[in-house]
Amino acid sequence: MVATPNTLSDFDPVKFTIVGFCADCQHDAPIPRINEDMEIPTLIEKLSCSQCGSGDCSIRIIYTGAGGFAYARS
Ligand SMILES: [Zn+2]
Repeated sequence: MVATPNTLSDFDPVKFTIVGFCADCQHDAPIPRINEDMEIPTLIEKLSCSQCGSGDCSIRIIYTGAGGFAYARS
């Protein structure tokens, strides 16, 4: 079985923030979600730093939750 890479659409924008990090200048910024069908490895490949122009970037997918608190129903 071949694993299919995750795409942006797998990460609900309400629950996840995708942040790019630059290895060269330590710049970090949220990544604009232009193409929801883009695979995560492709996204990382195309990433370049808006501050220093380096292509040596990585991403972090941060779970921010659904917002607020939920009460367990009894
Ligand atoms: Zn940079």
